[in-house]
Amino acid sequence: MPDLQTANPVNVDPAKVNIEHQRLASLINSMSDSVIAVDENCLVVLYNAATLNILDINTAIETQPLHKVLKIYNKDNEPVDIESLVTSTKIPTSTRNYLLHYTDNSSANLYLSIAPVHLGYGQVGQQGYVLVMRDITREKSLEEERDEFISVVSHELRTPITIAEGNISNAQFVANKTGDIEKLKPALEEAHRQILFLADMINDLATLSRAERAKLTFEISAINAHDIVQNLVNSYRSEAKSKGLELKAEIDPRLELLQSSELYVREILQNFVTNSLKYTQTGAVTVGARQQPGGVEFWVSDTGIGISKTDQQNIFNKFFRSEDYRTKETKGTGLGLYITRKLATLIKAAIHIQSELNKGSVFTIFVPNLR
Ligand code: ADP
Repeated sequence: MPDLQTANPVNVDPAKVNIEHQRLASLINSMSDSVIAVDENCLVVLYNAATLNILDINTAIETQPLHKVLKIYNKDNEPVDIESLVTSTKIPTSTRNYLLHYTDNSSANLYLSIAPVHLGYGQVGQQGYVLVMRDITREKSLEEERDEFISVVSHELRTPITIAEGNISNAQFVANKTGDIEKLKPALEEAHRQILFLADMINDLATLSRAERAKLTFEISAINAHDIVQNLVNSYRSEAKSKGLELKAEIDPRLELLQSSELYVREILQNFVTNSLKYTQTGAVTVGARQQPGGVEFWVSDTGIGISKTDQQNIFNKFFRSEDYRTKETKGTGLGLYITRKLATLIKAAIHIQSELNKGSVFTIFVPNLR
């Protein structure tokens, strides 16, 4: 690290100053943030090891003009005149909006703080600036993801809340004006439907947050795949019947005990089955399991509306619902398959879809033994 240019006032012991200087130098060098000090002409007088890391260079930069060393860009990707930015700084200032570009075309989001300082001792010290920089690319992408999630969730929640609110105030109006119970019913039914939808959505969000938090913690147990499929079919038989659909199980008699998370396997298959029942108007839904080397393959097939090739690429995305009018006619949050894929990733299971529009879909998942 280069020497700090310091004025050495009278009565200061040079040996002490030297020790202080070394302490300061090793402290700055051990920082994980990049520190660059420049003089009033914006020439580099001091920098630490983290600076070379963040700038991705391995050559000394002391005495170099700052604009040669540090090239930053604004949010719109326009180059920023760093020296004007620095010299116009009158009080310590920090921003999180600049970018650094690297030779391999990658970029980093930058936290940059600039503080005017006296680079020497006492009143007579030379004026300069200290820049502190940090790579905040990861923090930024997490922040962006969180902001997008909050904006999508609030949008998705607003619609049913608005409809429910409208219907309830309508019902209040009718009750006050006429007291006619029959006229109240449709508004209350619609409000009730919207509240049930909200409850579904909140359940999905809770499962999602559980799946995101449970990255490392789920219980592996010996699962009887035969029972899982049979229980699932039994639970949804009356719902299928009420829609005039047949619900069948096809279970390989050679199934072995599966070592995985019973909760997640159930939850994943349940999502496939409820979707198949929802998106099938006539015919049958079949749930099956067959033994494979190293695990069990489950599948849920239906004779429903099918999924177009383009939609197949999107159905695992957060809040995705097909534009197909038959999908639009059903209620859904677009979170089920997103959660399903998260859970599948946790248990190292691979999902495969085969689907043809107007013919039906098959969702297959291979669940490996985890021990
Ligand atoms: P939701 O069912 O709540 O809309 P999902 O995440 O479970 O959300 O599914 C996303 C989309 O994938 C659905 O909106 C639908 O368009 C499509 N989809 C899922 N399963 C099926 C299926 N079995 N048949 C046809 N389309 C399906």
